[in-house]
Amino acid sequence: MSDWKPIIGLEIHAELLTQSKMFSACPVVDSVTAPPNTAVDPVSLGLPGTLPVINLEAVEMAMMVGLALNCEIPAINQFARKSYFYPDLPKGYQISQYDRPLSVRGTLDIDLSDGTTATIRVRRAHLEEDTGKSVHVDGYSLIDYNRAGVPLLEIVTEPDIHSAEAAEVFARKLRAILQYLGVNDGDMSKGVMRVEPNISVMHKDDTGYRTRTEVKNLNSIRSLFRSIEYEVARQIKAWESGEGVRQATMGWDEAKQRTVVQRYKESADEYRYFPEPDLPVVEVSREWVERVRARLPELPDAKRDRFINSFGLSRYDASVLTAEKAVATYYEGVIADGANPKSAANWITGNLFGLLNRDGIERESAAEKVAPEKLGALVKMVDDGTINKATGVTVLNDMWETGGTPEDIVKAKGLGQISDTGAIEAALAKVLAENARLVEDYIAGKDKVFGPLMGKIMAELGGRGNPALVKETLTRELNARRG
Ligand code: ADP
Ligand code: MG
Repeated sequence: MSDWKPIIGLEIHAELLTQSKMFSACPVVDSVTAPPNTAVDPVSLGLPGTLPVINLEAVEMAMMVGLALNCEIPAINQFARKSYFYPDLPKGYQISQYDRPLSVRGTLDIDLSDGTTATIRVRRAHLEEDTGKSVHVDGYSLIDYNRAGVPLLEIVTEPDIHSAEAAEVFARKLRAILQYLGVNDGDMSKGVMRVEPNISVMHKDDTGYRTRTEVKNLNSIRSLFRSIEYEVARQIKAWESGEGVRQATMGWDEAKQRTVVQRYKESADEYRYFPEPDLPVVEVSREWVERVRARLPELPDAKRDRFINSFGLSRYDASVLTAEKAVATYYEGVIADGANPKSAANWITGNLFGLLNRDGIERESAAEKVAPEKLGALVKMVDDGTINKATGVTVLNDMWETGGTPEDIVKAKGLGQISDTGAIEAALAKVLAENARLVEDYIAGKDKVFGPLMGKIMAELGGRGNPALVKETLTRELNARRG
């Protein structure tokens, strides 16, 4: 179809959920809700004469992520000064890692909707510190240094991603890994995880890469997807019209759904990197790596495979249920009290996700709308025949609106399935009496009138008859009449 192929590499910044900052004992607070400048100290303010100390918890968290991404952990990593001036960077340099990052050469496999799997190479993942935040109000610029010095992990992929969909799947999976490891909660709207795509397009006759642009300040996975689609289309058009693409840093205009140039890059930025003289190199023994590896929890791929093997779920359902930590935990909560795992998967991925989508609620908030143990009880009531499937859907809608338990809703609304043989026989007698023609047809050998008779009895029971019991009773009665 198209002669052009998207070439995308991602740079992801993830704050680490440590107790204290990267280079001091200053506590880490929620940078959105905490009052400004309440979690600062001389080190994170960059006051002269202060000395940084490496946060061991941050190093181990970063190592966990490196291992989860199948990276090599070199025997030595080292911090370096990256010099630039910006008001939210009080020292005039950021402590980062340069030529000796903590982890290198990893991979992450992603499952795409066309059924293929792509392996995305991870170039490196290194530790650094976050900057403060500038806020511009009424002609003033204010700075909040709470975030300055918060441990930050920067993950860089090779340009192995070839569609907006693949970038989205990669970002979701990486986010899930960070959540499973407990090192980041993945909230892009709060900026604790930031994903920046580098985008270019390649013509089928090209032998090398073309000029790329980079999109910054994306606050959701949705805008990551949209900005890539937009930028790829824009670049193809620009090349085809002969105008060409200039290397640039772009922003994403959420209202207009388009990328906008922030600045053109004529040459590579010069940061004057040099080894941080105030910190020792970090020596990583193989014993240390193995100790950290032993602490890794079950990760999304392993959980997906376990759901497939132990519960007989399809690969697709298992992927969906493990793509977010909160969803996997929800699912495990639904089946904890004995609900059938396959039925539970269907109720969650079908009915519950349908309601979440309809009301624009994130999947990770499902438990706030319908507690997992309540959905588990509903799944059991349908599977054991207390109510039928259609009634179950009605009850779930009611649970969604009221937060009630399925037992209470069924009782209050008289929705219980009718398994009372007396009631079924009465309805059956009435329907057979009113439909003598159909009964005669059946006796004469027309088996196909069974369905319509069954339907009429179910209608007589208000749709709540236990289908198996109704069928059994009707079969017995009709066969007795055939003689
Ligand atoms: P540096 O920061 O040293 O300039 P690179 O430019 O090699 O590093 O890579 C930065 C990011 O851009 C990486 O994620 C990489 O995969 C991606 N990238 C590099 N070249 C291209 C390209 N032509 N098109 C799209 N992404 C690219
Ligand atoms: Mg960086």
